[in-house]
Amino acid sequence: MKFKLFLLFSFACQFSFAQLSPKTILLKADRVFDGVEMHQNWFVVVKDTRIFMVGDQKDLLQIKFKIDTTINLPGQTLLPGLIEGHSHLFLHPYNETEWNDQVLKESRAERLVRAVNHAKTTLMAGFTTVRDLGTEGAGFDDVGLRESINSGLTIGPRMMVAGRAIVATGSYGPKTDVTELDLPKGAEESDGEHLISTVRNQIGHGIDVVKIYADYRWGLNKTSMPTFSVAEIKSVVETAKSTGRPVAAHAGTKEGMRRAIEGGVETIEHGDNGDAEVFNLMKEKGIALCPTIAAGDAISQYDGWKRGTLPEPARITQKHKSFSAALAAGVTICFGGDVGVFPHGDNAREMEMMVEYGMKPLAVLQSATSINAKVFHQNEIGQLKAGLKADIIAVSGNPLDNISTIRKVNLVMKDGVIYKLNP
Ligand SMILES: [Zn+2]
Repeated sequence: MKFKLFLLFSFACQFSFAQLSPKTILLKADRVFDGVEMHQNWFVVVKDTRIFMVGDQKDLLQIKFKIDTTINLPGQTLLPGLIEGHSHLFLHPYNETEWNDQVLKESRAERLVRAVNHAKTTLMAGFTTVRDLGTEGAGFDDVGLRESINSGLTIGPRMMVAGRAIVATGSYGPKTDVTELDLPKGAEESDGEHLISTVRNQIGHGIDVVKIYADYRWGLNKTSMPTFSVAEIKSVVETAKSTGRPVAAHAGTKEGMRRAIEGGVETIEHGDNGDAEVFNLMKEKGIALCPTIAAGDAISQYDGWKRGTLPEPARITQKHKSFSAALAAGVTICFGGDVGVFPHGDNAREMEMMVEYGMKPLAVLQSATSINAKVFHQNEIGQLKAGLKADIIAVSGNPLDNISTIRKVNLVMKDGVIYKLNP
């Protein structure tokens, strides 16, 4: 009861409470996944906003300091807060409203209200960090949302944001058959020498990561074709890198991927038509692939395909093939589903699909925690290790036996503050 009061109170004014009352919380579960491997009967101690100690429950008797609260989590697994690698908090599923209409017909106010709700849903599903790769027409509102979460005005995951993102002039949508009309776009257009000032301007508006579209459906008959030249991508990367910011590239075609790799980006998003040659190149250069399997699957379903039935759409068959090639090449796999195409809070769908497409559950857990932290240069999250930020979740059962148990989230803690605790 005392603890429930703490929870209620912490929802009302979580940050001032955390500051007034540094607490030592002992978490005991059947298993602890520390971001790298699974340990049986371990514990985690949180002090204030950070992890203070992690170890075997056999050694608990030797603890001499005062524990304020003990939370027993029988039958459960403790894990680092999950890190979503590719989200769009300012989008909602395309089977509710088509992307074009979200960009052109929804007010900025509506889009922000939706994003605030999505942020809360994401956190409650156990995703304590997101790399949000573009607002798709909602300007730099992701920067404002990030700051509002950080200041405690609203709740949500910690955010790394890409702002407006960058596309080659003429390549991106929304488009119209009324050729004399110039519609507002889902990202900022730029090219050539202007790319330098575009990147700097976006950085000035507060973005954490630069997102470019290295290809898009602008070929004849709407086929995907490359957009920027290698020289253009290099100038984006050089400009971003000199401020310590990475570049993420949307690329699905082999040539778009090849240019992004040569241009020096850090992650490639989607990679649907990658083959052994490009994946070997990615492996060699240490570039991670964020496969977004769940988004392609969702879009195929919106187009009328029923999962598990034949004929399987060509893009699904191709995705199986390219993802297998990426795994065979040993490319670093960044967990990221392109959530927003499918519902926020359903982020775990991508983890399930990674297993379905051939990854081991342990590798999927590592990808969603320690590997994403490393790929995104976040050295204070992604592992349960003394000194790191106390971003911790607990789920029923063992996700190594069944990855879907990652959906049964009973505890969500971010920065030592408990946002969810099922009795
Ligand atoms: Zn995306």
